[in-house]
Amino acid sequence: MTEQSFCGGDRIVGIIDFGDMVWGARVHEVAIVLAYAMMGRDDFREVYQEVIDGYQEVIRLSDIELSVLYYLVAARWCQTMVMAARQTKANPGNAYHQISVEGAQTMLHEWVKANPVGIDMDVKNVKGGAILRSPVKDVNGVAVLRSPVEDVKGVGAILWSPVEERYRYFSRAVSLSYKEPIQMVGAAMQYMYGAEGRTYLDCVNNIPHVGHCHPKIVEAGQRQMARLNTNTRYLYNSLDRYAEKLLSKFPPSLNKVFFVNSGSAATDLAVRLAEAHTRQCEYLVLDYAYHGNTKAAIGLSPYKFNRKGGGGKPENVTILNLAPAPGPPPDLLDLPPAPGPPPDPLLRKEGEKSPRTFFAESIVGCAGQIVLSKELMQQTVKEVRGSGGIYVADEVQTGFGRVGHKFWAYELYDVVPDMVILGKPMGNGHPMGAVVCTEKIARSFETGMEFFSSFGGNPVSCEIGLAVLEVIEEEGLQENAKLVGDYLIGELKSLLGEQSAIGSRQSAIGSRQEPVGNRDAFLDLSTLSAVRNSRHVSRVMYHVSEVKGSGLFLGIELVETETGKPATVAATSIVNAMKERGFLLSTDGPYNNVIKFKPPMCFSLKNAEELLASLKSEFFGGNNK
Ligand code: PMP
Repeated sequence: MTEQSFCGGDRIVGIIDFGDMVWGARVHEVAIVLAYAMMGRDDFREVYQEVIDGYQEVIRLSDIELSVLYYLVAARWCQTMVMAARQTKANPGNAYHQISVEGAQTMLHEWVKANPVGIDMDVKNVKGGAILRSPVKDVNGVAVLRSPVEDVKGVGAILWSPVEERYRYFSRAVSLSYKEPIQMVGAAMQYMYGAEGRTYLDCVNNIPHVGHCHPKIVEAGQRQMARLNTNTRYLYNSLDRYAEKLLSKFPPSLNKVFFVNSGSAATDLAVRLAEAHTRQCEYLVLDYAYHGNTKAAIGLSPYKFNRKGGGGKPENVTILNLAPAPGPPPDLLDLPPAPGPPPDPLLRKEGEKSPRTFFAESIVGCAGQIVLSKELMQQTVKEVRGSGGIYVADEVQTGFGRVGHKFWAYELYDVVPDMVILGKPMGNGHPMGAVVCTEKIARSFETGMEFFSSFGGNPVSCEIGLAVLEVIEEEGLQENAKLVGDYLIGELKSLLGEQSAIGSRQSAIGSRQEPVGNRDAFLDLSTLSAVRNSRHVSRVMYHVSEVKGSGLFLGIELVETETGKPATVAATSIVNAMKERGFLLSTDGPYNNVIKFKPPMCFSLKNAEELLASLKSEFFGGNNK
């Protein structure tokens, strides 16, 4: 390359290496420049815009080119890391190969967090650039979707209410989270992307167990879907491979598996298996347990049958409370008693010797992440077995390494179930469920009637399930759950007893707080903030009274300091405020005063630090002081 190329001289000023030349799309060069220009920069969003701006002063990029830039930049950082690994393998002594790896890794994480929707929105300000996505604004409860082409072609704003849209086609029984629900348009790992361009750190969705849209899981599903999808009436390799891998996670006595498509279907099947085996339909369940949405599962779920709209406890069900230290008796609190009888270790009705099936969530999620008493669990299981009954562990919420210290939460109690129900995390969002049981129980079900599930155990599900198990191992996710969970428990416990204040809504909701359903947890935000800010409303002190759970399955219980009553308003207010800060959490427990935490398992220590900092400032900062 001579000076002539630039200013007419013939001195050599550079060399173009045509050996590195490849044919590619023009936009790739923008992506490569961006990847290096942004690396190590905290203001990478501005850099992104400036570079695109500058480029477009000479060459206009098309809408399609702009729309793929985000992913091309990410691809370049991936390429940097892959190439570094390859070169280092070939030439281990050369440290230079690693020069960009840390930067690329950090940027990739920041990039995922920055989110494609948000980045696209930034690009709308680029000179001459098209608007790629549309912001959603809430005006008096009506979301205003600004047309993507509005500024370009002068088209007016489109009025649209996604909440109204929801209930045009669905019953109000299908609820939404948060007073101002979020319109979600994407997700990656532990982050979710709102249509308004915000990134939310997902602290509550345990279904995308190994991370939202994990590439290995997506690829496994896509690959198998393109090859073969059929059912268990045929022989195919992935079914056996998956069954073998899944059963290897259980003790030898649990050696048979049935595949279905949800936790509810697993509960339903477990009921049939139990009845075929015990020839009884008497059940013991834990207080506040939830086992699914089928008729049989609702009948075993005090969380449903004992609350709003529920039909009450069925005759054949006995409720147990095996929590180690039940809270203060309700009469001390001037509260209606929590639904269900008080703790009752009596398993048999007077004089009765009948076998019963004991259904137990290994940590009771809807009760507020209640870890059970090891002694009571062992005693109960012994008693149940002594009278010919069986113990069914519901691991739908707690399985697959979530509790950190063990792969299955029932292992926390040193008991081995006769049957285990699986669901949610099994397929990372792909609908999967299973019942794992003993040989004897499986035999009792061989009555001549076929068991068939059209979709349970199909090859696509099996490949996805296998990939989930592999990712848990490859990425050390159980160990991560232990590390991050232990850290969070330690930090949260240091807050125990520290007091804060919130305006009381007592006058608005009456002097008694009723146990509330999940939907009621999301009280009116404007009322809440008015309550928090008003000088005229009496302020109620509250504090963290207990930190419950294990690993990445935790509950933070809040109570009013003076009365010991559940601090439902504070918990609800904090969850809504945390959403505004970009953290997704929820409340649960009989009084919705337990803040629930059960994120994807890739939730990092850094995420935990961010969560703690925001929680602390919500607990103790600003108006709460
Ligand atoms: N068991 C437990 C403990 C659950 O939490 C749930 C769902 N929340 C179920 C069973 C039912 O699972 P699904 O919603 O997949 O039917």
